[in-house]
Amino acid sequence: MTEHGDRNLPIEEMRDRYRIEREKRMRPEGLGQYAELAGDFEDLDVDTFVEPGFTRDPIVEETQVVIVGGGFAGMLTAIDLTKLGMRDFRLVEKAGDFGGTWYWNRYPGCMCDVESYTYLPLLEETGYMPTEKYASAPEIFGYCQLLGRTFDLYPHALFQTVITGAEWDAGTERWIVTTSRGDRLASKFVVVAGGILHKPKLPGIPGIRGFGGRMFHTSHWDYSYTGGSPTEPMDELADKRVGIVGTGATAVQAIPQLARAAKELYVFQRTPSAVGERNNGPTDEAWFRSQPPGWQAERIENFTNAVTGRQPERNLVGDGWTEVMWVNTQQAPEDPEVAAALERSDFETMQKLRGRVDAIVEDPETAAKLKPWYGKNCKRVCFHDDYLPAFNRPNVHLVDTDGRGVDAVTPTGAVVDGVEYPLDCLIFASGFEVNTDYEGRVGFDPVGRDGVALSERWSQGARTLHGVLADGFPNFCIISFLQAGFGTNFVHFLSKSAEHVADLIVRCEREGIATIEASPEGEDDWLMVLYGTVAGVAAYSTTCTPSYYNSEHGPIDAKRARNLVYAESLLDYAGHLERWRATDNLPGTKITRVGTSA
Ligand code: NDP
Repeated sequence: MTEHGDRNLPIEEMRDRYRIEREKRMRPEGLGQYAELAGDFEDLDVDTFVEPGFTRDPIVEETQVVIVGGGFAGMLTAIDLTKLGMRDFRLVEKAGDFGGTWYWNRYPGCMCDVESYTYLPLLEETGYMPTEKYASAPEIFGYCQLLGRTFDLYPHALFQTVITGAEWDAGTERWIVTTSRGDRLASKFVVVAGGILHKPKLPGIPGIRGFGGRMFHTSHWDYSYTGGSPTEPMDELADKRVGIVGTGATAVQAIPQLARAAKELYVFQRTPSAVGERNNGPTDEAWFRSQPPGWQAERIENFTNAVTGRQPERNLVGDGWTEVMWVNTQQAPEDPEVAAALERSDFETMQKLRGRVDAIVEDPETAAKLKPWYGKNCKRVCFHDDYLPAFNRPNVHLVDTDGRGVDAVTPTGAVVDGVEYPLDCLIFASGFEVNTDYEGRVGFDPVGRDGVALSERWSQGARTLHGVLADGFPNFCIISFLQAGFGTNFVHFLSKSAEHVADLIVRCEREGIATIEASPEGEDDWLMVLYGTVAGVAAYSTTCTPSYYNSEHGPIDAKRARNLVYAESLLDYAGHLERWRATDNLPGTKITRVGTSA
């Protein structure tokens, strides 16, 4: 055994190992194995970050744009509208402030795994210098508030307000949007900028409801129980036995903090994460201040190119992400030699990450269980310097379930392989809904032309132009990865989408367009474009362990065949949007002009 463990394993054997590990994890229920936090566990779906008892009078008003969601997507849409001279918009947000994912995720150790100089948008405009290369969640949340103040968004926001309905009124050509606070907003446009990684899910483990200790999801961290705060140690856990279910990107960040605070920590693992080196550090102020105008856009693009295997001339970010993703192993080259080289490169990258476990984790049995046996694009690779060392602590116990997951939860603990682990607290780092029905994720079912609901229109899968416009839903813009782009730096995608939507809205105003929606032909053509991008990813995905990336390997039915993403580079997706905006006639849409009827 070398530092890199079994690096010399022949490819055939590796393939076989991946298959065996994948098969252990296949579950016939697919996405059905999870329970919803909202609905199934309403008592856990409470916003503990606001003072209870907030009330306000209902608002009845006309506005040009209702933006649903106050995370980066909603804020950037509002900011882009502002820059284009439009200020007549309302932002409606369930939470008590801006921030979206960075409002909710306050678990200890939460940070962004993408470099802050490329992740935080508009740094040149705000003049803000991130304190570290990888910013912590409180800093990012603070930055969202700074954006809100800088662009004067707060007066436009309705916080602690949930959209309950949106219905197109053909007579007035307005959306009638209703909310949980009794508001009635009549608007020309609706932009749904939410529902991406926002709806927590819990594993449907037998007995989970009956747990007698404290339990919560990582996105609703209960500091009243753990003590401490996102920046202070959780001093109430010193005498507690804590269990955490899940070892994904969230858990990798939370576990080192829990390991320091808890009397005993039990980590229930179904599939190990690949965890590379982080190397965080303070921002070099002289370097940051010396950047020339336009540096951030260049850096953002450079990063996206580097992590999609486009290998820019200079690797500006030069971190774990760019190193791991420098070669795009998801391509489907026709040349078998090229395909074999890509496969080898992927195995080697993962071998390096597996070797890192051997180098750090002292107990060989624990180290063996922490090794990920799947390709580098199967799950989000993690980067953390304290995660693997946490397993060297005597109070941290890895309970590996060999791919099965936790068997049962009892009133006093969790059961794996016939052994009950007694717990005072059970934390679910079990992720978020991703590929479930769109209207379920955004929390309301828009009703478009002729009273047809989105759930009905999309009953056989999504139909959109660019993932943004939909037939039957005039002036309704969607920002979501469904039939749209995505990327490692998700805010890069959101920035491109927000820019597109704001431009579209303002253009309609300028050109006297009363309504715009996708045409059925436009939707069909876009679907063909999407299909043209998926071959490599689809083939690669079949070799992967189940996860939300591949809808837990659920059946490929009519819905799933349409509910896909633009699988090539985000920059190519953005190129489609830009070329479309540059046209005179906005192809693939149905348009009515002011003064004419539909
Ligand atoms: P994930 O969906 O990635 O992980 C959920 C975890 O719960 C997995 O380890 C899963 O195991 C485990 N699990 C599910 N059911 C069971 C069960 N029955 N028994 C035991 N374990 C179970 O969620 P995360 O919240 O970790 O991450 C979601 C996404 O959020 C990331 O992919 C990323 O996009 C984003 N994120 C981004 C961060 C950033 O820094 N930018 C930080 C954190 C999250 P299995 O793998 O076997 O399914």
